Amino acid sequence: MKVLIETSARHIHLTTEHLEILCGKGFTLEEKKPLSQPGQYVSTTRLDVVGPKATIKNVVVLGPVRPKTQVEVSMTDARTLGMVAPIRESGDVAKSAPVKIAGPRGSIEIEEGVIIAKRHLHMTPEDAKKAGVKSGDIIMIDVNTPERGIIFKDVVVRVSDRFATAVHIDTDESNAANASYDMNTPLYGEIIK
Ligand SMILES: [Zn+2]
Repeated sequence: MKVLIETSARHIHLTTEHLEILCGKGFTLEEKKPLSQPGQYVSTTRLDVVGPKATIKNVVVLGPVRPKTQVEVSMTDARTLGMVAPIRESGDVAKSAPVKIAGPRGSIEIEEGVIIAKRHLHMTPEDAKKAGVKSGDIIMIDVNTPERGIIFKDVVVRVSDRFATAVHIDTDESNAANASYDMNTPLYGEIIK
């Protein structure tokens, strides 16, 4: 079965409390453009992620707000920041890397929250049934790109009726696969079980 492959650039998810510390009391996120996952969006807010070694400026905040603040970076970003972050599924931030986030009105220091996202396949229940997979399954995705075709192992399947079917990889993985060789055409990969 063919599935859409999307690259997630570094981004921040915030709690309401942290958003207000960083951007001011009563501040709310404004949608700039929707993401493929229903209800999720790129906001107009950008903040600085401050690591022990360097700062990465203007990191996009995704909406809506979440129950936990989380920063998703690539392994290259983690190295630039000067930290070691674990590879995790989104939301699983326990004992992940600490970081400082700086905004226009204030800053926060969190003891955990920086992760490198484990590559994953969002699926609707209909598509999961068609493909014969379920939440938690680990599959492979075969990506046929010019010069850098690759098979990604260790792709975790997540099924929900709130999802649209798409594989999410980070920018390191995307570059390793030459995934942006044609910016005008969506990239698809093949599920291998
Ligand atoms: Zn995702």
